[in-house]
Amino acid sequence: MPLRRRATGWARPCKGPSVRDETQSAPADPLPGAGCCHVCGRALPATELQPFLSVRPGLSALIEAEAPGWAEGGRICRADIARFRRLYVERMLEDERGELGTLDRAVLDSLETGRTLSRHLDADLAERLTLGERMADAVARLGGSWPFISGFLGLLVLWIGLNVSALLHRPPFDPYPFILLNLLLSCIAALQAPIIMMSQRRQETQDRLRGENDYRVNLKAELEIRQLHEKIDHQLAHQWQRLVEMQQIQIELLEERRR
Ligand SMILES: [Zn+2]
Repeated sequence: MPLRRRATGWARPCKGPSVRDETQSAPADPLPGAGCCHVCGRALPATELQPFLSVRPGLSALIEAEAPGWAEGGRICRADIARFRRLYVERMLEDERGELGTLDRAVLDSLETGRTLSRHLDADLAERLTLGERMADAVARLGGSWPFISGFLGLLVLWIGLNVSALLHRPPFDPYPFILLNLLLSCIAALQAPIIMMSQRRQETQDRLRGENDYRVNLKAELEIRQLHEKIDHQLAHQWQRLVEMQQIQIELLEERRR
């Protein structure tokens, strides 16, 4: 069933080819200067429609392929132009690197919907940490600090000193070769290693997520900048063409006056 709206109470019925899906809502009440989308055929206010001349040639080719008859005087709604923009960028990316990944598709979705991609990952991850992960991080932080090393060295010296010192008038609690101290050190090393590995693994996950976030943001920025370049080039070329036409008209007027 076509989506075009019957001309009830409006002078210009929509004549679009109506090739979009049928789930789109009915058009809003017509406003002064309203028009029809060439692709979906919806009647929309002028602010919601983009004219043919402001659409870049690359996009225009895609629109023409889907909705033939796209030419000067035609207008297209924002939803459709966003969809074609996504399609254009998708094809461009596929041409450049072949199959697209999940991250690329997330960027394309964001380009189409206009949602921001960047996230403050550190704050998000900090909120999701379990007690065990927090403890592992604390142990890894403490174990890799100078206060811990110097404190541990001090403890070793004190332990050995107490046991070998002749100042003690009682039998040492861990005589040479300090078997109890060895056992304690082995236990600490055995426990500390897996705890530090846990912390490192979590850190790796965090780094990977941060890298993915950076990749998405960079790719989106790159694509947006590229599109902006194309848009500016198109606008400049269009303006230049208009200037030439105006100049031609002025020359013709001057020549007429001279006669
Ligand atoms: Zn439309």
